[in-house]
Amino acid sequence: MDIEIVTIGDELLLGFTIDTNAAHLAREFAALGVRIVRRSTCGDDAESIASAVRDALDRTGAVITTGGLGPTADDMTKPAIASIFGRGMVMDAEILANLEARWLKRFNTVLPVSNRQQALVPEDCTILVNRHGSAPGIWLEDERGRWVAMLPGVPREMRGMVADTLVPRLRDRIAPGGRVIRARTLRTANIAESALADRLGELARGVNGLSLAYLPGVDGVDLRLTSYALPAAETERALRDASARIREKVERFIYGEGDDDLAALMLAECGVREETIAVAESCTGGMLGMRLTAVPGSSRVVLGGTIAYANEVKVRELGVDLATLEAHGAVSESVARAMASGVRTRFGSTVGIGITGIAGPGGGSPEKPVGTVWVAVDVRGELRAVRALLPGDRHEIRYRASQLALDLLRWTFAGIEDANGWTAHGATSSG
Ligand code: ATP
Repeated sequence: MDIEIVTIGDELLLGFTIDTNAAHLAREFAALGVRIVRRSTCGDDAESIASAVRDALDRTGAVITTGGLGPTADDMTKPAIASIFGRGMVMDAEILANLEARWLKRFNTVLPVSNRQQALVPEDCTILVNRHGSAPGIWLEDERGRWVAMLPGVPREMRGMVADTLVPRLRDRIAPGGRVIRARTLRTANIAESALADRLGELARGVNGLSLAYLPGVDGVDLRLTSYALPAAETERALRDASARIREKVERFIYGEGDDDLAALMLAECGVREETIAVAESCTGGMLGMRLTAVPGSSRVVLGGTIAYANEVKVRELGVDLATLEAHGAVSESVARAMASGVRTRFGSTVGIGITGIAGPGGGSPEKPVGTVWVAVDVRGELRAVRALLPGDRHEIRYRASQLALDLLRWTFAGIEDANGWTAHGATSSG
């Protein structure tokens, strides 16, 4: 089955709102074996809506729209689309009664006049119940079986309605045993895309007929395997086998799957190992502490940390030796190690993590260019440090430094001697 998506809203055209609705719909329906063959966006005016939906109906005969169902006067969607089907608008008594009851319960007032129009629906339509907000969705279908499903624009409402009304409704129309699109993502950190491809060798372009995409971001490079053409029953096994083959080649760089967060994984690992963490952060200014404490339940593992930006603070609060600082500079292996050990001792944790680096845009030198970062971990006295030259702007370098530190902890726990990822690209590590 083929479907088109039309997302409605001036804000989308202006770029102030990112069109996450279309992305969500595309992903959800691909997994069911429905092909999204075209996505378009139009403004809030009746003419644009009617023309975008008419074109999509003529081409594909199956259209999902989002947006423009709210109570504001500029919401033209329903009448514009009803007119394509040659239908007028009628007041739906049940929707009106529900809206009135909702307003009385929530705001203790009568329904404002502008909200009454939410109960206006095209003649001969099917109401798609919205359990997540006030504006119901609408299903319109003509005698030739061409249909439009109108969903609200608010992403939370739209997602909820897709799951509880639209997908069940369309399931009957999707041929059983049809081809589905499914994907599995392996998350790597601290290795460049090209280095991953080199290590993957003949798997670099795809595995067992599944495509392989490289998706670089600040967390690292995600490897996404996608199965486009297998029946639903075969996709899981195909994805599992293909990811096992990839793991064989680059296991040490893979920290998780799907949307796993390295901070959350490391906290869980510390929980199992009965480790506690303290952090000493210079260039990241608390970002690692923030990432760790953002995870629910982190208080069982995280004791605290020190933002040691100035050299005096590194000396006074962490016990870094002033002579070491002066001899090697703040961004150096010995200072990173002293920070990790210092914070571990002072906080009484089993794990200490130290980060020091040059986030830029100023402050670089030929020997230590912007992006130079040293991170160190001290696990019960076992100290390791790694240097990397991280790419990106100030924010990206700081984030990547926190990711590098977490990854160094992962290597330490896993007994990986030298992951040789960034280290193969100008960084060094030492145990
Ligand atoms: P309401 O008028 O009740 O808010 P609606 O169905 O009329 O709902 P819109 O007014 O078009 O929807 O959008 C409501 C909000 O939903 C927008 O402010 C925007 O933040 C978000 N939104 C709308 N369309 C999209 C989209 N395609 N992707 C992501 N967010 C969207």
